Amino acid sequence: MLGLMQQWPLLCHKILDHAARQHGGREIVSRSIEGPIVRTTYADVRRRALQVAQRLERDGYQLGDRIATLGWNSARHLETWYGAMGMGGVYHTLNPRLFPEQIAWIMNHAEDKCLFTDLTFVPLVEKIAPSIPSLKKVVILTDQAHMPQTSLPEAVAYEDWIAEADGDYQWRSFDENTAAGMCYTSGTTGDPKGVVYSHRSNVLHAMIACLPDAMGISARDVILPVVPMFHANAWGLTQSAPMIGAKLVMPGAKMDGPSIYELLDTEKVSFTAAVPTVWLMLLQHLEETGKELPHLKKVVIGGSACPRAMTEKFQKNYDVQVIHAWGMTEMSPLGSLGSIKPEYAELGGDKLLDLQEKQGHAPFGVEMKVTDDENHELPWDGKTFGRLKVRGPAVAAAYYGGAGTEQFDEENWFDTGDVAHIDPHGYMQITDRAKDVIKSGGEWISTIDLENLAVGHPDIAEAAVIGVAHPKWDERPLLIVVPKPGKEPSKDAILDYMKGRCAKWWLPDDVTFVDEIPHTATGKIQKTTLREQFRGYRLP
Ligand code: ADP
Repeated sequence: MLGLMQQWPLLCHKILDHAARQHGGREIVSRSIEGPIVRTTYADVRRRALQVAQRLERDGYQLGDRIATLGWNSARHLETWYGAMGMGGVYHTLNPRLFPEQIAWIMNHAEDKCLFTDLTFVPLVEKIAPSIPSLKKVVILTDQAHMPQTSLPEAVAYEDWIAEADGDYQWRSFDENTAAGMCYTSGTTGDPKGVVYSHRSNVLHAMIACLPDAMGISARDVILPVVPMFHANAWGLTQSAPMIGAKLVMPGAKMDGPSIYELLDTEKVSFTAAVPTVWLMLLQHLEETGKELPHLKKVVIGGSACPRAMTEKFQKNYDVQVIHAWGMTEMSPLGSLGSIKPEYAELGGDKLLDLQEKQGHAPFGVEMKVTDDENHELPWDGKTFGRLKVRGPAVAAAYYGGAGTEQFDEENWFDTGDVAHIDPHGYMQITDRAKDVIKSGGEWISTIDLENLAVGHPDIAEAAVIGVAHPKWDERPLLIVVPKPGKEPSKDAILDYMKGRCAKWWLPDDVTFVDEIPHTATGKIQKTTLREQFRGYRLP
């Protein structure tokens, strides 16, 4: 017997319809690439997204066509996504921090037909466009007055382009499993791999993200996604914020401490999300200027491990609750969040920080397990670590074009490539990337734990740990340190600080000092580059 309820396909543009109807006047504030702060509303964004959809169709784009975007977070960028999805197209976010050759490779792999780009990236697009035969049109996200001189044929100013459509358009309707968006993983190993989101997965993910113990956001929030739209849909906020009708503040191209602080303050932001490097810059700015964060209530930190010292500073010095989160492009991206369950409600001080160092627990819609190399499930005891595997309605079932099949098994479990343990209450802690873990005498050493520990030292700005070849133990940890400006911590002082705070045999064999640690396009420490740089390093 089937249920007698209505078929109402979960389509992304219904989110925008809801936002426009129920929260039509709510603002979307963008720091524009041209300079000024621009204010619009959900009702306006919907109106213009309809124009985008109508114009795309008129230009000949059809169901399933890939519509690429190369842009910072802004209302215009949001319009292009909803417009593309609403006519059955597939928005495809490109990460401008990748090398131009990588971007061209990705665009060719996805066979992008149309590209919306911010002014910032016009020179980059001019360079790569000739090598992308599928690309028919480039729309520059600006108006006529700001159009640059460009060698791009068929380039047009966004405002002119949409002005030719009156917006008298009906969203198209189709199966909820239709592709809605695409995002490639940054490919730190091998070629980038394409993740294809469906309308259904995006809508379900948006609902999951809003849950009180996930991001816990509401219409009363003012949300600043510092995490870029090209980094896994701004962690889904591009869909969850309109779903609940929260005011959105889009930071544009400026993510430095003073610029982010300015938006947090003037727009009275209550909720924000980004990778730790962004928060490092903000906290530094706050320390230098003595400024406070009176409006901000919650910050979601993920993408790489949130250092304990960062959580402590936000909570203790600024009264801002930290939610440490873990996820992947392949998971839309949320996998776990560190809200506090009743079992841990009594924790305070160091014990609470211990818990918050973990990446948190899975919300409804994410199943999780850890296994050994033979795929035997390991106990949830908070210490036995193994391969972290996940499945759920917003988890990839395959990569575009069939790459990486070995990561998916017949029961739909996706091997994340992360190494983790899970405690009896479901709190998961990442101990490493499978390829970064240090194997010393047959035992595993977590590089993330050591890095977190090292950055707790008052004179250390950033730290990375890599395995270096060792004649007896195979590999031993080397600690690479960027000291804080004006500080010169000694190797012994650092090792003394770490002693007693980690297992004795985990203690790095050596400490080396550098001015800068290389980062990937999504702000993570680039371990491959470091391993290359320190290949053959002689441990004492
Ligand atoms: P990319 O490698 O393209 O940046 P993702 O953003 O999808 O792709 O990266 C996902 C990976 O980032 C995870 O598999 C994990 O290794 C790492 N990661 C994400 N969040 C955290 C976190 N809170 N702590 C530790 N690692 C994290």
